[in-house]
Parts: sequence; C-alpha cells; structure tokens
Amino acid sequence: MSDSPRYRFAPSPTGFFHVGGARTALYNWALTLRTGGTFVLRIEDTDESRNSPEWTQGIIDALAWLGIDSSHPQFEGPYFQSHNADLHVKAAHRLYEQGNAYWCDLTGEQIQERAKASGKQGYDGYSRDRGLEPGPGRVLRFRVPEGATVVNDLVRGRVEFANDTIEDFVLLRGNGTPMFLLANVVDDIEMNITTVVRAEEHLPNTPKQQLIWDALGVTPPVWAHVPVLVNEQRKKLSKRRDKVALEQYRSEGILPDAMVNYLMTLGWAPAGDEEIVPWQRIVDEFRLEDVNHSPAFFDIKKLNAFNGDYIRAMSLDAFIDACQPFFADAPWPTQRFNADVFKKMAPLLQTRVVTLSEVPAMVDFMFIENPVIDEDAWAKTMSSDFAADVLRDFAASVETCEWNHDSLKALLEAWTESRGLKLGKTQAPIRVAITGRTVGPPLFESIEVLGRDETVRRLQSALNRLA
Ligand code: GLU
Repeated sequence: MSDSPRYRFAPSPTGFFHVGGARTALYNWALTLRTGGTFVLRIEDTDESRNSPEWTQGIIDALAWLGIDSSHPQFEGPYFQSHNADLHVKAAHRLYEQGNAYWCDLTGEQIQERAKASGKQGYDGYSRDRGLEPGPGRVLRFRVPEGATVVNDLVRGRVEFANDTIEDFVLLRGNGTPMFLLANVVDDIEMNITTVVRAEEHLPNTPKQQLIWDALGVTPPVWAHVPVLVNEQRKKLSKRRDKVALEQYRSEGILPDAMVNYLMTLGWAPAGDEEIVPWQRIVDEFRLEDVNHSPAFFDIKKLNAFNGDYIRAMSLDAFIDACQPFFADAPWPTQRFNADVFKKMAPLLQTRVVTLSEVPAMVDFMFIENPVIDEDAWAKTMSSDFAADVLRDFAASVETCEWNHDSLKALLEAWTESRGLKLGKTQAPIRVAITGRTVGPPLFESIEVLGRDETVRRLQSALNRLA
C-alpha cells in the first residue's frame, strides 16, 4: 500500500445534492489534489429506498459540475456500500467471536419499559452477560468498554467522550442487515481510508466508530468534522426551509467556479483579504487545521456577489457560451433569435447580471416581435403629462438622426432640458415602449442595436395605445 493519503466522500443518495455535501466533497478534493492522494467516492446506498441509478448519476454529475471529474486519475469509484454487505456481516460476526459484541432479544417496547422503570434513557446493557446465541429477530450489539474515548479531530481538537454515555449500540439489525455505523467503518477499512472529512453532525457517531476500528484492530483514520451550514436565522440549513440543492443554484445560473470558490470559504479562508481566488491557490493553501469550527452562514447574497464577480471576469465569448443553456426556455420563438444581435448586447448584460438566468429576460425584447408590456410599468410611466410628447418627438427625431447611442442620448437630453425635466423621467416611457419594462440594459445602447425602423415602430405603437 502506498503512503499517500486516501480521502473519501460517502454520500447517502437523497435525490438531490446538498450544498453542504458539495462543500465536504470539495474539501476532500482539494486535499486529494495537494497531497497527491486519492479521492474515493462511495455511495452509501444501503437504505433500499435510496438506491436508484438516477440518484447515483445525479451525484456523479454534480461532482463533475464542481470540477471533481470521475475520470481524473486521483478519483476512485464509485463504490456502492450495498455491494459490501457480506463484508459488513462478516466483521460483525468477528466482533461477536472476539467478545466485542453480543446478541440481544429485547424488543423496542421492552427497552422502553426498562428505561422507564430505571429512569435512565436508552438501552441498559440487559443482554450483555446473558450469553445469547444468534437467533431470529435478535440484534447484535457492540459491547462498549469502560473508560473514555478520545477523538482527536483536526477541526474540533481533542474531544473526549465518557464511555458510560455511549449505549451498547446495534451493529446488526434483527433481520441481519448491518447498521450504518458498522458498514461505514468496514468500508473505510476495506478502502484503506486514512482521513475522514465529513459533516459535523457525524461527530456523535465518531467515538462509537472509533471503538469499532479499535476492536477490529485497525488504527482509526484522521478525523475532521467540518462545521454545519446555517441560514440567516443561524438555523441549520434544511431542505424544507432553505434552498439547499446544488442543482437549483446551477439552474439559476450560478457558475460552477463561483460556487466552488464560495463553498470553500464556508469555514475557511485563503490567506490575505481576498476571498475570490483561483482554484489552484485554494488547493495550495487549504489545510484542515485552519478550518473554523463555528457554524458557517450560507449567505446567498454573498454567493451572488461572488457569482457577479466571476461573470465580470469571463471573456465575452465564455460569457456568451455560458448563457446558451439558459435560452432553452427563453420567451422568444427560436427562429427569431439572432446570435449577432445577442453578441452586441452581451457586453451590456455581462456588467449587470448577478446570475445567468437573468439574461433571457434582459434581452427578450430584442427577439420578440412585440415587447410584452408590464402593465404596472406602463401605468407608472405613461401617466405623466409629457409621455405622449416625448414618445412622439423622440420618434420623429430618431427617423433621421445619426445612428449611435451617443446621438440618441444627446437627442433626448436636449429635449429633456428644453422642458426642464430629468432624463431619468423622460427615459422611462421610452424604455417601456421599447422593452416593455422599467428596468433593463442601458437604453440608448439597446436602441442602437435594435435599429432605427424597429425603434420607430415600437414608439408609434406605444403612441397608438396611448391615444
Ligand atoms: N453517508 C453519510 C452521509 O451522507 C456520510 C457518512 C460519512 O461521511 O462518514 O451523511
């Protein structure tokens, strides 16, 4: 066996990919790349309701989107926990034979009754010395030794658990199937895992698992439990309350690089003041010892700000390419889309959008025959006493003016000044006539791209509606 570290990411398929899981995977991946180690993907699919091939593919696709490519030479797997069931059972029997485990026939109800009677919660070790043989419905429990279990965690530091607070936990269920705690350890041993980086919610499992490692005679791995992600109310992110699915951010137009960079900073920061840094720098600098153990706020506003920065940093061509998937449900008829027009508009959008999914709604007026008028915007902007005048006069002057955004702007500025008005006000009815909305890309640049005839036609049609 080589000495290079072996990390693993061991998701239980849930039908969607949690952003917290994404961060755990990235921490493991960054370490793998820096240390020349191996990243093992193990799908923990022992819950039968959870092993559908689509879910596995969903995990592989999500990892690939994050840049964790399953064809990379340092990537190993996927392995499936369900395929190792025999090994799990074998290890359980070994623990029994060694005296580290015993059979128990108490039902859940009986355990509860005993707990009630004694006033002590949980299982009381009733069958420890009853010498039961295996039998139908009997569970196999681990015999937790006396003393204390010390977990040395790279993030949490030294955590000591008194063993009398750990009940004799179940290794095999009454139907003979292995429990997560055991399966997870046996797989880690089998896959020669040296470092376990996982969510903090598993910390309470760790002393139990470390006892299993010890009982199986294998040195436990290096542990690192990374902090939970919380929402604005400092509550743990939950799929019922919060937006936690990576796919959702992806479909809203968060760029993978922005997501990766942002996730890495949840509990860790690169040296210096700058948080937006290239992936290679993250790989070079990331250390588990530097991960903070307090809960990390998953701040969507900050993620969006990262995304905006990443969008601004793209080349124009890359931006145009990245926008293409978002045109699939765009509101214009496909045949009216014009790539040259979009290319002219793209620089105006690239400086403004926060996510790529905003793009179609910012340019749809270019590719729709008649802009869809937002009625509130119409009511707000067309009720002024100058609306008809500005539309009519502007329409008349654009018929003949020099065709570029500077002269278009100069025209409207002159008109606005002559009336003692403000450009912000006089622009509004024109914008609604041209785009249907009150907000959008810079108006005069957009008009320049739209062209003279179409501009006049839209101004006329707004005037007709006003009359
Ligand atoms: N399958 C576990 C989960 O998805 C992870 C266990 C581990 O990382 O040790 O929470």
